[in-house]
Amino acid sequence: MNIYYAVTFFILGSVLASFYGVVATRLPEEKSILGRSHCLYCNHTLSWFELIPVFSFLFLRGKCKNCKKKLPVYEPLMELSCGILFSLSYLYYGFSYSFWVSLILISLLFIIFVSDFRYMIILDSPLVLSSLLIFGLKWFYYGLSSALWSLLDGAILFFIFYLIGYFGSKLFSREALGGGDIKLAFVMGLLLGVPHAIMALVLSTFLALPYATYSLFSTKEREVPFGPFLISALFIVFLFLDKFSSILNLFKF
Ligand SMILES: [Zn+2]
Repeated sequence: MNIYYAVTFFILGSVLASFYGVVATRLPEEKSILGRSHCLYCNHTLSWFELIPVFSFLFLRGKCKNCKKKLPVYEPLMELSCGILFSLSYLYYGFSYSFWVSLILISLLFIIFVSDFRYMIILDSPLVLSSLLIFGLKWFYYGLSSALWSLLDGAILFFIFYLIGYFGSKLFSREALGGGDIKLAFVMGLLLGVPHAIMALVLSTFLALPYATYSLFSTKEREVPFGPFLISALFIVFLFLDKFSSILNLFKF
């Protein structure tokens, strides 16, 4: 049965990844997420066999059926890696609280990477949906009062980020943290609780540092999307929760 579920979640992950690609590229341009996909170059409407995650790209040998232009390779790579991550989550966690949360985080990871790197936007709807799902899961697995306390953790993180953003922008006279980052902080607090979420924040600045330095020197770009690093840090802390808990215990007397 394990193999059956592992394959099912691989398929689900790859199908969702192609949907996430649509969400992350159409919503920032205020296009509808309904409606069929088109070829980027010749606008030819894709038929069902051109829409199968990963496999269509292989069948078509990476070219549009109509205009023969090369299709972007990141799309099948996204579908493949999202499928693999979904499948690994199942094999690692089985059907448990951590499994469902892991699927939510992987989904956010893909959507935020695409929309924030490409448009410097973190969309509201995936954050709202993730918050609701995480709240629901906490309620289901740990009871209502635990879920309600998590809301407070989310609110505290939101407030901390808001203050950092506020004083940061006063200090550097430019936007230090985007509105999307502050909303993402709510999800971090909600999921991890305040101490772990603060560790994720610290970790995210370490993750962002090499990229920020690189983009400052190579492209003179001062605006760096922070969302991908926040969500990566959130995922890492969630994956290694025990390790981070023992680091936290060092600070307790
Ligand atoms: Zn085409």
